Amino acid sequence: MNLIEQQHRFFNTGATRDIDYRIRQLRSLYQVILQYQERIFEALYQDLGKSEQEAYLTEIGVVLSEISYTLRHIRAWSRPASGGFSIAAPFSTSKILREPYGVVLILSPFNYPFQLALTPLVSALAAGNCAVIKPSELAPATAAVISEMLNINFEQRLCAVVTGGVQTAQSLINGGFDYIFFTGSRSVGRAVYEAAAKNLVPVTLELGGKSPCIVERSADLDAAARRIVWGKFLNAGQTCVAPDYLLVQDCVRQELIERMRACIVQFYGEHPEANPAYPRIINREHFMRLREMLAEGTILSGGQVDEENLRIAPTLIENAPFYSKLLSEEIFGPILPVIEFADTRQVFDFISLNPAPLALYLFTRSRELEKRVMRIPFGGGCINDTVIHLASHGLPFGGVGESGFGSYHGRAGFYTFTHNKSVMRKLPLLDLALRYPPFGKVKSVLKRIFR
Ligand code: NAD
Repeated sequence: MNLIEQQHRFFNTGATRDIDYRIRQLRSLYQVILQYQERIFEALYQDLGKSEQEAYLTEIGVVLSEISYTLRHIRAWSRPASGGFSIAAPFSTSKILREPYGVVLILSPFNYPFQLALTPLVSALAAGNCAVIKPSELAPATAAVISEMLNINFEQRLCAVVTGGVQTAQSLINGGFDYIFFTGSRSVGRAVYEAAAKNLVPVTLELGGKSPCIVERSADLDAAARRIVWGKFLNAGQTCVAPDYLLVQDCVRQELIERMRACIVQFYGEHPEANPAYPRIINREHFMRLREMLAEGTILSGGQVDEENLRIAPTLIENAPFYSKLLSEEIFGPILPVIEFADTRQVFDFISLNPAPLALYLFTRSRELEKRVMRIPFGGGCINDTVIHLASHGLPFGGVGESGFGSYHGRAGFYTFTHNKSVMRKLPLLDLALRYPPFGKVKSVLKRIFR
């Protein structure tokens, strides 16, 4: 019997419907992560050159905190909800049952290879599903640790890791899952969606895009500089919600650039490309792609590369043409194009050149501008900060349009992996005669009921 069949069979025993069972699994997951913490740090350093501090802040800590939060709320989330009263069906009670989908597949990308595989797993298990994870082959050390950590410590029929590349992923998506949760690029997301559609399998697609960051003249420039540099150069820009490009009002441009330069030195030193605590680019292919982008504009700050260690210094760049890759493709690296605007109306025109982004950031003190910018379609974002909205368990995280659909984190994650099953209970005796044909005589009564 293959792994997916084994999981279906286990799911059908009903074992995962027991909330206490789910709680025990989540508690073990928490403990196992603590046990493997050092190995995870090492793997993340090997794959991406992440320092322990950054790895804890953006990977391990995020997952531990997701487990703790879920454990605090799992009973309330699992409880059936009342379906209210329906005048069309008196003498009835209605309930919404929180049903797990069954066996789910989680496909994850390379950039936060631990967190983006484990956070959806927390929600999937909490909701009572069995799960198979296929981590990214581009972060092989982390994939190996995740695989050992889960395959040794959990029953495979509940949760298992399958490692491999594109072919493995392709055969998995056709493998008979009840739900597919995909995080990755748009092009692969499209292929996953197509395959899922053939089998009518529901999916969540967590994709990327070009996330704008706007700085208007009334903004606090110190805070803007610090928070943009932090959000952009975290994980060397390989963050799906990193600011992809900066739109800055002409009168504050020079001052903002100066302050951003100072922040880069303060955070990463004079030679970030030689700083062992500054992450590297995942592989040579992505390094070369980014290196070519460096030639597409005028460098304002940074631009140094260390080809041997695949590091690119935090870089601010301007004068990139509209047709350049810098301004038309998701950058996904430590290069930030700076575009100046005179009038805020230009901001809306510029953003509308690309499909709906995963994130948007606005630095301003103007409530009026805030209101107008919030009407732009985007997945989620911050006013006067970057990236940090992801840290709130109360905020569903996901895209819109081409940046994906569906969401997770906290309650949203639990319900992503839950089918809301609506059930009405009736008494056998009492019935409304007017629901049965012939209807003619009761038309006026029906009209009053279904107003
Ligand atoms: P990717 O799409 O190349 O790979 C993601 C996963 O899909 C991997 O596990 C890979 O093995 C698998 N895969 C590859 N080809 C496949 C195919 N043909 N069929 C099925 N599965 C296949 O993504 P990546 O390069 O690892 O990650 C970078 C991208 O992910 C960026 O675009 C980024 O914006 C996006 N991303 C989005 C989020 C989010 O939460 N929205 C988070 C991180 C990254």
